[in-house]
Amino acid sequence: MEHPILHFLNDAQKAAVTSDAAALLVLAGAGSGKTRVLVHRMAWLIQEDHLSPHSLLAVTFTNKAAQEMKGRIEGLLGRPANTLWIGTFHGLAHRLLRTHARDARLDENFQILDSDDQLRIIKRVMKELGLDEEEWQPKQAQWFINAKKDDGLRPKDIAHNGDLYTATMCTVYQAYEEACAQGGLVDFAELLLRAFELLRDNAHLRVHYQERFQHVLVDEFQDTNAIQYAWIRLIANGRNRITIVGDDDQSIYGWRGAKIENIHKFQQDYSGADTIRLEQNYRSTNTILKAANSVIANNNDRLGKNLWTSGDEGEPISLYTAFNEQEEARYVAARIEDWVNQGNSYNESAILYRSNAQSRVMEEALLQRQIPYRIYGGLRFFERAEVKDTLAYLRLLSNRNNDAAFERVVNTPTRGLGLKSIENIRATAKVQNCSLWDASSHVIEHGLLPARAKNALLGFQTLLKNMDDETEEFELHQKIEFIIEASGLLDMYLKEKGEKGLARKENLQELVTAARNFDVAEVEEEEQELTPVQAFLAHASLEAGDTQAESYQDCVQLMTLHSAKGLEFPLVFIAGVEEKLFPHQMSMEDPDSLAEERRLCYVGITRAMKKLYLTHAEKRRMFGKESYPSLSRFVREIPASLIEEVRITAQVSQPAFSSGLGLGQQADDSHGFQLGQMVEHPRFGIGVILNFEGSGPQTRIHINFESAGPKTLVLAYAKLSAV
Ligand code: ATP
Ligand code: MG
Repeated sequence: MEHPILHFLNDAQKAAVTSDAAALLVLAGAGSGKTRVLVHRMAWLIQEDHLSPHSLLAVTFTNKAAQEMKGRIEGLLGRPANTLWIGTFHGLAHRLLRTHARDARLDENFQILDSDDQLRIIKRVMKELGLDEEEWQPKQAQWFINAKKDDGLRPKDIAHNGDLYTATMCTVYQAYEEACAQGGLVDFAELLLRAFELLRDNAHLRVHYQERFQHVLVDEFQDTNAIQYAWIRLIANGRNRITIVGDDDQSIYGWRGAKIENIHKFQQDYSGADTIRLEQNYRSTNTILKAANSVIANNNDRLGKNLWTSGDEGEPISLYTAFNEQEEARYVAARIEDWVNQGNSYNESAILYRSNAQSRVMEEALLQRQIPYRIYGGLRFFERAEVKDTLAYLRLLSNRNNDAAFERVVNTPTRGLGLKSIENIRATAKVQNCSLWDASSHVIEHGLLPARAKNALLGFQTLLKNMDDETEEFELHQKIEFIIEASGLLDMYLKEKGEKGLARKENLQELVTAARNFDVAEVEEEEQELTPVQAFLAHASLEAGDTQAESYQDCVQLMTLHSAKGLEFPLVFIAGVEEKLFPHQMSMEDPDSLAEERRLCYVGITRAMKKLYLTHAEKRRMFGKESYPSLSRFVREIPASLIEEVRITAQVSQPAFSSGLGLGQQADDSHGFQLGQMVEHPRFGIGVILNFEGSGPQTRIHINFESAGPKTLVLAYAKLSAV
């Protein structure tokens, strides 16, 4: 009789699970059961090969994935597997370093530095080295140090050949290392490098772990970087066994140093490695799979796979053309409501997007319908540091006594106020029983600060006064736009290298858009007395409050395409399928980056099990600008026969496909209004009816008003008249 662990596995999967190869590569497309194979293989090794869980080392991509895997293995085994080492590269490295702090030449109580703290230390050592921040940007030094660590290099390993830039960066790297050593501090990149060096330099430990871990298993191998692979090589040295699973078509972290070439390297380094390909997809409908295959076929240099499913054709992919991004979000929210009304759960649905900044509008639409949601692997819009920093200025402008806002920005961006000076202000506020703002005037007047700090504080006060004066006549969004620039926040964030700085900039621009669209009239009745600034700030605080569902609650999952890797959902929306957004503007020129965007699209499409919606907007206000984006090339790479266009706006414009412009939903005209009709609203004036949603007294009506812009109103209360 077949072993129960092998139930529900196909032949190729069984071969992978039971293989006794010393090195095994499972190379397969999305949803073909790679992760499943890894889990079953671990259970198999424990039950059939009688390996103790203690002798397995498994690497996953997120902590959540690690927990899920452990749970599944325990389920298969019917007992706990506490001694199994399973986690992310960072998590496992941390565990090793804690266990062997002394051998790793670390303080027993070493602390982990997050990226903000890391930057703070780099700034300090640069100042001590007498480097001018204007000329030598701390952010660049941070990026340099982390990139070198990811490549396994210490300052002494870096040849600078007299090149001033490299030589200076190496000096900073060296001084930063000394500062970390003194403080017992370890940054994220250091965790990996130090864990690698620990095993490289301590033969007894290396041998110990090589003997302990008789089997090493790695999921999502295509996204490992140089130091991670080097670490794996040290542990899996040929006497023990190794299994890696991956998909070259899903490598999406090249921008962070991941190397697809590691797959080729693996085949060379472990000569005689067996390769097993899984070709049957169990996740998605045939329609979804065909779409994914067609898109990825446009990439060159693939290892090549043939993915098929015996499942249903399934529903066509819906392509929705929204009038603008808000209408897009409302459409998505409405479809999720339908889905749940049909007896499904929120948990089964996910909204995926390319840019974090897209989440805000989605969040609002979900809140409006009281649909519970959770942002996976990220902060909600109004909780992001850059947004909070900007709003802190706005808060302080409208109320100088807001101490929390004062604390947040008095030295952000840095203006030379040390901790001591700030302590001094706090103490004065306490004694004088006044706000920090008033206390700062007090310490200035009474000469309680060193000259440098005094000037910095004066500068801060003047900055706010100027902001007040210059924005007096401004509208809310202009005010915010002004603050972002004048405060120096934008410059500060732009110094962050790569995607992060750019994402922050996008979020700031999105904040301006949010303010521009913010309508005081939409605020609750009792808040109508507030000024637009006050109303907007209240709105921001509430949105940042505890409206996010808890992880155990049934809720819609919102996440970037990047964080969706490895996951699956019956219902998936990919929002904003537009040129310059997806593919991202930044990646359109360079063929390698474009290929990575396409892989990201492949990842996105293959998350869907039953139903996939692609949505785009004809007009999008994002990144602070209004644009009329065209449909993403990736959508055009999907055969039109797999797509059903849904188009319920009455706007006449270029159809996405020449196949035509189908009106997906017809209006219920029992109320006497029709699509395209001109109407008048007592407050918003004249507008055109774009769409109806729902029926009876709950009918909602979308109207584009000439001066007030697009609005959704409940027909029964809207007091509309025909014109
Ligand atoms: P990704 O590339 O997205 O990480 P994957 O290759 O790791 O995907 P899994 O997540 O392991 O794929 O599997 C995809 C889905 O198919 C899961 O729901 C899994 O339970 C199911 N599945 C895999 N193999 C089988 C099988 N032989 N029989 C039934 N269901 C299967
Ligand atoms: Mg997987």
